Amino acid sequence: MRVLVTGAAGFIGSHLSQRLLARGDEVFGFDNLNAYYDPTLKEARLARLLPHPGFRFVRASLEDRPALEAAFDDFKPQRVVNLAAQAGVRYSLENPHAYIDSNIVGFMNILEACRHRGVEHLVYASSSSVYGANRKLPFAVEDSVDHPVSMYAATKKANELMAHTYSHLFDLPTTGLRFFTVYGPWGRPDMALFLFTRKILAGEPIDVFNNGKHTRDFTYIDDIVEGVIRSLDRVPGPDPQYDPMNPSPASSQAPYRVYNIGNHQPVELLRYIEVLEQCLGRKAERNLLPLQPGDVPDTYADVEALNRDTGYSPSTPIETGVSRFVEWYREFYPG
Ligand code: NAD
Repeated sequence: MRVLVTGAAGFIGSHLSQRLLARGDEVFGFDNLNAYYDPTLKEARLARLLPHPGFRFVRASLEDRPALEAAFDDFKPQRVVNLAAQAGVRYSLENPHAYIDSNIVGFMNILEACRHRGVEHLVYASSSSVYGANRKLPFAVEDSVDHPVSMYAATKKANELMAHTYSHLFDLPTTGLRFFTVYGPWGRPDMALFLFTRKILAGEPIDVFNNGKHTRDFTYIDDIVEGVIRSLDRVPGPDPQYDPMNPSPASSQAPYRVYNIGNHQPVELLRYIEVLEQCLGRKAERNLLPLQPGDVPDTYADVEALNRDTGYSPSTPIETGVSRFVEWYREFYPG
């Protein structure tokens, strides 16, 4: 299969590309290697993919429509996984336009390119942040998600609305995946595990928001990639369960699906830090702070829908996942 992966130099995109190549797919990576975080990490991820004969890459932005269309025309992808986006909740408070550019204009360009080039299936990254400050746990795809609390979340919710429109109007099969706090080797430097590890090893205090009391459904990268591939392989049709008299946000007459993709095992932040301390063999100095604007107190994925439709069943406990991250970190940043 020919799969175009946007954000291929990113954390999730590079792991996904590896797995697709390993099973014999051809992968076309598309990424602008932006400077949101250390581009050398992105280049290092890419360097592992480039030698593979089934991998090709172009450096460009989703907003650059001619470049995106040229990539589609050149590669003729059968399926597309759109992971390129401006990520991060906190950054979105001060830099909202970056989210409109990448996540709205860029996503529009992806939809148009898929529509006009007969793509069989578009899988795209949504986020657990669409649930906002919802206190009903676990989060189910049937829940209302109309109250995002950051521009990041608002653009991810907007992606689901835009995808539905294209599935409905043009019969484009789309699957949106709401990722829940992904972690693991080659992870993102702006995320807690990476930040904590760097600071603990440097003997600096770590900022612990919400006094460490919030819970996150931390999901190991291999489980995420497994779920993405299972979703990619299952092209949706109209939902047989769809009931126009009792419509659910997750169901449609169009070839459209949205799933949670999490670990279904929420962990308190303080516990996550304890596990990290054990793996590093060092104690953290905690700088306890209140919940930050745009942050939500809890996330917890109900993964029943993805399990029912694809057999997805995450299997990595945080003790294993954090230890693999630390092993990678020590190797990548020796000394
Ligand atoms: P990442 O930042 O590591 O990867 C995104 C990649 O996309 C980067 O390499 C970046 O250079 C590229 N990119 C960004 N904007 C682009 C643009 N306009 N054009 C071309 N390339 C662009 O992030 P990630 O953690 O791998 O996340 C992948 C996707 O999953 C994102 O859409 C993100 O919002 C979503 N997501 C991630 C998490 C998580 O915990 N990591 C959680 C929820 C949702």
